[in-house]
Amino acid sequence: MLQISDLHVSVEDKSILQGIDLQVKPGEVHAIMGPNGSGKSTLSSTLAGKEDYQVDKGTIVFKGKQLTELDPEERAGEGVFLAFQYPVEIPGVSNKLFLKTALNGIRKYRGEEDIDRFDFEDLLEEKAQLLKMPMDLLQRSVNEGFSGGEKKRNDILQMAVLSPQLCILDETDSGLDIDALKAVSAGVNALRDGKRSFIMVTHYQRILDYIKPDYVHVLYKGKIVKSGDHTLAKVLEEKGYGWITGEE
Ligand code: ADP
Ligand code: MG
Ligand code: MG
Repeated sequence: MLQISDLHVSVEDKSILQGIDLQVKPGEVHAIMGPNGSGKSTLSSTLAGKEDYQVDKGTIVFKGKQLTELDPEERAGEGVFLAFQYPVEIPGVSNKLFLKTALNGIRKYRGEEDIDRFDFEDLLEEKAQLLKMPMDLLQRSVNEGFSGGEKKRNDILQMAVLSPQLCILDETDSGLDIDALKAVSAGVNALRDGKRSFIMVTHYQRILDYIKPDYVHVLYKGKIVKSGDHTLAKVLEEKGYGWITGEE
């Protein structure tokens, strides 16, 4: 589904990713861990196609297409979704309208008509129930006045409504209390269906107690320096990153 080969990325002429290789198959969950500043967010932003992230070398192939040739909207249309580390607030735009606009943007890209308004209501209700999201969050402006936990839940709701094939979650766990963490994890787990793939970027292994990854990769100074299964996350919790990076 996703094949990243020898990816080099720079931001403002500063080289950050220095040769990333990663293969994600349908249904797999990959955790990307690593110390602060190792390039985790740079990798997620590059996959989502955010501007200012310059691919200097290497390829990102998603479902047979060169992702780097597509703009962020086209990537969303192809089924790539990024939940931001710091979700944006959009005053004056209701969450519901935002979701509908995003969904119709994707449908248009695929040559489909706008969703019928009643079908959209049904879809929203179904997904909100699945994620145990209070319906009143849908009427409020996007993320405005939302608590940290509500914003993250809202990210997961967006994901459920847009139904992407590749979900990239960047530090979805940061700043969450245990109840919000469990709610977000349950939401992610509810969206696992054997076909949808996830890249979970996280500094701490805590969320991985609730969402069991198939693979764990450690990113350090722009390179994947170690890969393993979910047990690697446990080792990292106990021993930190020093034994891999050589820094104590
Ligand atoms: P992580 O998510 O692992 O903490 P980042 O990808 O955010 O790491 O950052 C990796 C490196 O790139 C850091 O040294 C950071 O200072 C630098 N960096 C990130 N974004 C920018 C930017 N917009 N301009 C310049 N340097 C940046
Ligand atoms: Mg960081
Ligand atoms: Mg980061």
